[in-house]
Amino acid sequence: MNWLKVGNIEVARVVESNGPFMSIYDFFPDATDEKLAPHRIWLEPNAICPKTNMLIMPIQSYVVKTDKFTILVDSCVGNHKTVKWYPAWHQKTDNSFLSNLSNHSIHPDEIDIVLCTHLHVDHSGWNTQLSNGRWVPTFKNARYILSKKECENAAHLSEKYGDPTYNENVLPIIEAGQALLVADDYQIDDSVWLEPTPGHTPGHCSIRLSHRDENAVITGDLIHSPVQCQFPHWNFKFDTDKELAAKTRLNFLKNYSDCDVKVLTSHFPQPSTGRIELNGDAFKFKYDK
Ligand SMILES: [Zn+2]
Repeated sequence: MNWLKVGNIEVARVVESNGPFMSIYDFFPDATDEKLAPHRIWLEPNAICPKTNMLIMPIQSYVVKTDKFTILVDSCVGNHKTVKWYPAWHQKTDNSFLSNLSNHSIHPDEIDIVLCTHLHVDHSGWNTQLSNGRWVPTFKNARYILSKKECENAAHLSEKYGDPTYNENVLPIIEAGQALLVADDYQIDDSVWLEPTPGHTPGHCSIRLSHRDENAVITGDLIHSPVQCQFPHWNFKFDTDKELAAKTRLNFLKNYSDCDVKVLTSHFPQPSTGRIELNGDAFKFKYDK
């Protein structure tokens, strides 16, 4: 299995699904034929399907092994979840995420810490699984370290709009006594900490990794596609606070371009990891080989 190194920290991607997700014009309301035309040459076919204009996106987690902890960052969609806005995920029963995890020689009971960049369904699904009709923590020995702000927002969406994510993916963790609700800049230790990157959701956090002068950042959904390196102001139609999301994304691209920080994205086409480079008055993503 492919593990990348950040100092002594080992990081692997665990993929739940991969393929065409949504039309780029639907996903990014600012996208037009005219703006895209000069960039299709580097976007097709890996990031955009030339025939259908669908964005190609993996749904995936990162496993981070430090000398102290085995950490799961984000937990994909899961099985049996209620997902009305994206029917392909609704009540799915055949996601093989746990066997993909075991292909990396990791048993769910070995996960010490679960981190979620945010609590959307494709980042919190395997937090829980169904057992005898009840949602129970999938990772029974883990502390789930979650942004307090993000949990409050998920609870609000549940109360106000009936969004099932809180009840299915978050509340069972709190009830099991496995949740630790923290500030958005919470530091686990010198090697792993949260970095607030709000906008996509109010308590969205990226995850910073650092060891022996080597650095990496797991983006979460502050950026969804390499096309946003060229057009940082293009928001995903479901970004909660669009102005803040665009500002966070631009700051992120400025802060992490032309430097030695490995950028581990959640939804860029595989291999999903690389570095950000300045490119004229925009940016580009240079994928790892
Ligand atoms: Zn996502």
